[in-house]
Amino acid sequence: MDDSSGAVTARGPVPADLPDRIRHYVGGEHVDSVDGATFDVLDPVWRTPYVQAAAGKAADVERAVASARRAFEEGPWPRMLPRDRSRVLHRVADLVESRDARLAELESFDSGLPITQALGQARRAAENFRFFADLVVAQVDDAYKVPGRQLNYVNRRPIGVAGLITPWNTPFMLESWKLAPALATGNTVVLKPAEFTPLSASLWAGIFEEAGVPTGVFNLVHGLGEEAGDALVRHPGVPLVSFTGESRTGQLIFANAAPHLKGLSMELGGKSPAVVFADADLDAAVDATVFGVFSLNGERCTAGSRILVQREVYDEFVGRFAEQARRVVVGPPHDPATEVGALVHPEHVEKVLRYIEIGRTEGRLVAGGGPPDHLPGGSYVAPTVFVDVPPDARIFQEEIFGPVVAITPFDTDADALALANGVRYGLAAYVWTNDLRRAHTFAQSVEAGMVWLNSNNVRDLRTPFGGVKASGLGHEGGYRSIDFYTHQQAVHVALGDAHQPTFGRATPH
Ligand code: NAD
Repeated sequence: MDDSSGAVTARGPVPADLPDRIRHYVGGEHVDSVDGATFDVLDPVWRTPYVQAAAGKAADVERAVASARRAFEEGPWPRMLPRDRSRVLHRVADLVESRDARLAELESFDSGLPITQALGQARRAAENFRFFADLVVAQVDDAYKVPGRQLNYVNRRPIGVAGLITPWNTPFMLESWKLAPALATGNTVVLKPAEFTPLSASLWAGIFEEAGVPTGVFNLVHGLGEEAGDALVRHPGVPLVSFTGESRTGQLIFANAAPHLKGLSMELGGKSPAVVFADADLDAAVDATVFGVFSLNGERCTAGSRILVQREVYDEFVGRFAEQARRVVVGPPHDPATEVGALVHPEHVEKVLRYIEIGRTEGRLVAGGGPPDHLPGGSYVAPTVFVDVPPDARIFQEEIFGPVVAITPFDTDADALALANGVRYGLAAYVWTNDLRRAHTFAQSVEAGMVWLNSNNVRDLRTPFGGVKASGLGHEGGYRSIDFYTHQQAVHVALGDAHQPTFGRATPH
């Protein structure tokens, strides 16, 4: 196989037993599109089609929603005791765990993620299922009593068919993040995974079948966002949509779902600041911020892609950061030594390289700047570091979603806060300081859904996940996910002889 650019590039082994076609999964059957349409799926390293996937459109979504609707209205899933659903979902987790190596192999091949990181994401997907399987059993709903007069309780019910629309970065894990709570609470689902990376999603069908999820509960429609995704968003039989993707797509979905007043959860883009104060532990701060922006190929919503450094330590930080960035191992995704793999798709590589060209006119390039010398094929981008980047620069303001970082100096805490908040996004923020008061004070005012203080991107599944401003709408995570995927109906019951009329029964005069 030749690289389409004609250049030499590193390529790993093609996984054994790749499917000959990626199909939809509807009502327990693997099916082609109603009109037979397909689209090409590219291997990110060679950038040539390796398989065709069914291209879903409105008719395919119609079929999938009808299947999910039937399973919701007539099937056992919404009516099962939570502990019984929980058992099935623990089996899903077991199966994901037992197949983690295969999942990682396919995910890495399809998305370009380094294999070790893809393995970590597969395990996290299993963890998501375990977590929500347990949580739904532990769920206690409120009851409020007025002794002798009234009992009020909350009747929590699944909503119906959940539309789940997911992006191409860490696809399997992000699908699990929506599937697990949607299913645990008794909904049925139609999943529309990202068109760049449909491979791992096609494994869900076998996992759910084997775990004992009833037919029709899980449905999968592949296809382009503006066709399959859009049809799902506009379908009147889908009362709620959980979306993860770009802010621009989120705006479209918001508008297109509005006529139906759907429940919406939106996890959107980011341009998160990592703020390094002069009193920080610089060893830890350099190491963590290199990881924070370049892990997962920089294709991470919570990447610390703007680093703000206090002027007293700016030169030292920049020198050490650039040196460590140059040592990050860029290589083929299948190689366990690889830290940054191949970017997902030629279109995305072009976007990242365009930003690097813009960056050359806006800041000072001190590391990277394009494909690494040893991998000139075009799928790889070396960790790229721009310093002295002004806050009005496009590479400071806009999400690049690749291994590119903008570093900017600041003087006071107030300057750091203004810089941190001076973008349209508000997903995450990272703070490095040994001054506790300063760290917490900063956290109180930074416009970010999540703040990590002297800490990496480690997240407890019980905590809320979501962004503010252009980074999202609503929160998932822990009980917030349970709330999103359920109706909480309040039931008010009169006790004893509490009947208290009266209206329209006064004696006429
Ligand atoms: P994207 O918005 O292009 O696509 C995401 C999904 O939406 C895909 O399945 C796509 O097919 C679908 N889609 C596209 N247009 C649609 C439409 N008009 N109607 C319905 N569906 C449509 O995003 P992407 O490029 O796949 O993913 C990268 C983005 O996702 C980045 O902005 C990243 O920050 C964001 N992201 C956010 C989080 C988070 O939790 N906040 C997590 C991961 C990724």
